[in-house]
Amino acid sequence: MSKGTLYTPGAEAVAVKGRFAAYRWLILRRVSQVGILVLFMVGPVLLWLKGAGGRPAEVFWPVKGTLASSLTLDVLPLTDPFMVLQSLAAGHVMTKTAFIGAAIVLAFYLLVGGRTYCSWVCPVNIVTDAAHWLRQKLGLKGGIQLARRTRYWVMAMALIVSAATGVLAWELVNPITIFQRVLTFGVGLGWLVILGIFLYDTFASKRGWCSHLCPVGAFYALVNRFGLVKVSAAKRSACTNCMDCFAVCPEPHVITPALRGADRGLGPVILSADCTNCGRCADVCAPAVFEFATRFANQSEAKPGEHASSQVPKAA
Ligand code: SF4
Ligand code: SF4
Repeated sequence: MSKGTLYTPGAEAVAVKGRFAAYRWLILRRVSQVGILVLFMVGPVLLWLKGAGGRPAEVFWPVKGTLASSLTLDVLPLTDPFMVLQSLAAGHVMTKTAFIGAAIVLAFYLLVGGRTYCSWVCPVNIVTDAAHWLRQKLGLKGGIQLARRTRYWVMAMALIVSAATGVLAWELVNPITIFQRVLTFGVGLGWLVILGIFLYDTFASKRGWCSHLCPVGAFYALVNRFGLVKVSAAKRSACTNCMDCFAVCPEPHVITPALRGADRGLGPVILSADCTNCGRCADVCAPAVFEFATRFANQSEAKPGEHASSQVPKAA
């Protein structure tokens, strides 16, 4: 591995596995993120094409609402549970449909892993990934590094302010729904919020927004403590210590215990609630160390004290 501005994580994986396999999960994620946005935009765009006089009932509108609260095909309600918590804190009366929507969303993310929302659904992730890519290309280092727990304080503040004001505090400034609205309804000041996150992540703080500040990501990390689907360093003995997985991972601290914990009797499954199940570690790994598994596949192949990972160095 050569560090510096020309360092390209995953170059070896491209050479060994081919370009598609080395970007497989990234491509699928982008298809998922963009596809979900398109589903939200179909109705408004058709309405616009039909003319100002068109009424929603006259056009095909597959998904109504926003990522905070939506109705798919007029039958499936989906509600952001964090938005429901803010509503309850603010003293609002929630409808039965909103609770059902939140229960469906919670059940889904308990199954697939909470922070799967971040990497497979949230459009802001595309912006922060782009900022990280540019940061690496420019060879930028240093900057502000807030504690990761800051996002939990932001989450708590959002609930406290909601309770104190009776207003859904986070939803006033939530860049996720702002992003969705500016895409759907055109240019507005919302672009400045998205641009601000991009500039902050690029020039001020590495992975500054998603890994340190976003309360929605913090909420889904709490859900992720019980998530079923996990990434596993199943073939960790094949690790060549190229560090590419650490370079691409949005939460690189989650990798070390699974990849390097065999000596301590730790299993290969990445159990950290911060992992976003993005699959980039699997993409860029030439010896295919990583794969998707469940939390139950976490048996260690070595007992504590045994040296099962002699190829794997100790420092991250
Ligand atoms: S941390 Fe927040 S902004 Fe980032 S991907 Fe997750 S929900 Fe979206
Ligand atoms: S460990 Fe892998 S799947 Fe988890 S966040 Fe990092 S790169 Fe993504």
